[in-house]
Amino acid sequence: MQNHAEEINQVMSRSYAAFCDYRKISGNQKADFLDGIAAMLEQASAALVAVATTETNLPEARLSGERMRTCNQLRQFSAMLREGSWVDARIDTAQPERQPLPKPDVRKMNVALGPVVVFGASNFPFAYSTAGVDTAAALAAGCSVVLRGHPAHPKTSLAVAELISQAAHKSGIPKDTFIHVDGPGFEIGKLLVQHPQTKAVGFTGSYSGGKALYDYAQQRPEPIPVFSEMGSINPVYLLPESLKSLAAQTAEQYSVSITQSVGQFCTNPGLIIGVERESLRNFITLLSDKLKQIPPARMLHEGISKSFYHKRAQALKQKGVDLVAMSVSEEPENYGVPTLATVSADDFLNNPGLHDEVFGPYSLIVRAKDIKQMQAIAENLPGQLTSTAIGLDAELSEHQGLLEAIASRAGRIILNGVPTGVEVCPSMHHGGPFPATTDSRFSSVGIDAVKRFVRPLSFQNYPESLLPDELKTSNPLEIWRLFNNELRK
Ligand code: NAP
Repeated sequence: MQNHAEEINQVMSRSYAAFCDYRKISGNQKADFLDGIAAMLEQASAALVAVATTETNLPEARLSGERMRTCNQLRQFSAMLREGSWVDARIDTAQPERQPLPKPDVRKMNVALGPVVVFGASNFPFAYSTAGVDTAAALAAGCSVVLRGHPAHPKTSLAVAELISQAAHKSGIPKDTFIHVDGPGFEIGKLLVQHPQTKAVGFTGSYSGGKALYDYAQQRPEPIPVFSEMGSINPVYLLPESLKSLAAQTAEQYSVSITQSVGQFCTNPGLIIGVERESLRNFITLLSDKLKQIPPARMLHEGISKSFYHKRAQALKQKGVDLVAMSVSEEPENYGVPTLATVSADDFLNNPGLHDEVFGPYSLIVRAKDIKQMQAIAENLPGQLTSTAIGLDAELSEHQGLLEAIASRAGRIILNGVPTGVEVCPSMHHGGPFPATTDSRFSSVGIDAVKRFVRPLSFQNYPESLLPDELKTSNPLEIWRLFNNELRK
């Protein structure tokens, strides 16, 4: 891009013009479009996975699974559109005879916000990138999308963008409903977020990137919502009785969870808290032994591996932090080496620097004096995407205060499991209080992700002929609606 400002201006004008047509298209036609993208991704799967393998260093099996997940997401949104009730229609019919004042006819539904800028994520080249959940949710909402391709997988991004364009053509969708923008430099992202035609932003990545985009948006004459999903250390609270009997099983599970995809998941368990007893010491030995057997693997890109080395080195030199496991002593360049460290709860609580994410195969075990100190940690941590408790039923019931502290700071609470592996289903919440995200009310996984890109609009005294189909008294779409305070079709 030679003249970024002029180029972005043209892109956003085209996107807005497409939005004006696309928003009027029926739910069924939008659903055909999303299904068409999924079908194209399936047809081109082998070629897409091959190019993504070369660009991301992720293994083929992982990328094939992610490609499938991306199609599944698109189809969940298309099913939602065909069913139709997601618009949350409410109808209150007029009561002209009401005293002392007549009641007007008022109807409300969700409508699309406008052009949405989506930033592709480096660690999910399919599921959170070009045709990923942010794009699928925005298109389902009726928004046009301008996709900022992630520079770590430019060929994958362009190949997927081409398939989206073909699917749009096949389904009769305006050409510029989806526009792909690439090229190096933060300036492009900044211009996109600050452009007056942009009405919302979806982002997954670093805290610094997500917060910078949020700040650009708030500085605009017309501020807009930015849905940034940023860092999280996903604390895991190990209750002592469970560790006595389940230490080996838990160590096995966590060695996999910490190192899967070289630890490059936003739900990676970066912090494990236990009570300083023999059972915790045993667990640390078991987990160290497991991690030492896992070979290092190449990380997504040079910037991510540099950041991993730097942040881990910073963490390891903090007061009281001891390195307990590293799978190899000589680190190959750009490889992530599984690493485990420990620290006392006193040192952890006194050092907020240890509360930050080290993105990669790293975890810190905090040794608390007792459950009370464990709860103090839960109460002092910033917002998280997930928090996990491992305990026997009796222990979990006994320590309700700890569970409540955990719940107040997380978007998802897991009992007796691992935080990695985010099921894509309507009941999943993938979000959490700041700094995990910039808006804890919304999810970036599951069909609820559409709610980020709509706004409610009330229609007062509209005649049947001018109302959108979703709000007509005759209910031609046969969708569930709240009609005079009664839920019905
Ligand atoms: P990133 O640095 O956050 O970048 C993601 C996208 O945002 C890129 O397209 C980047 O632009 C853009 N961007 C970042 N800062 C910007 C700014 N100030 N103004 C305008 N645009 C900006 O993510 P990354 O490159 O994937 O990885 C870097 C670090 O992010 C990792 O080491 C890790 O700590 C974290 N990360 C976290 C997650 C998570 O799920 N929480 C996922 C991936 C990465 P350019 O295209 O110009 O670079």
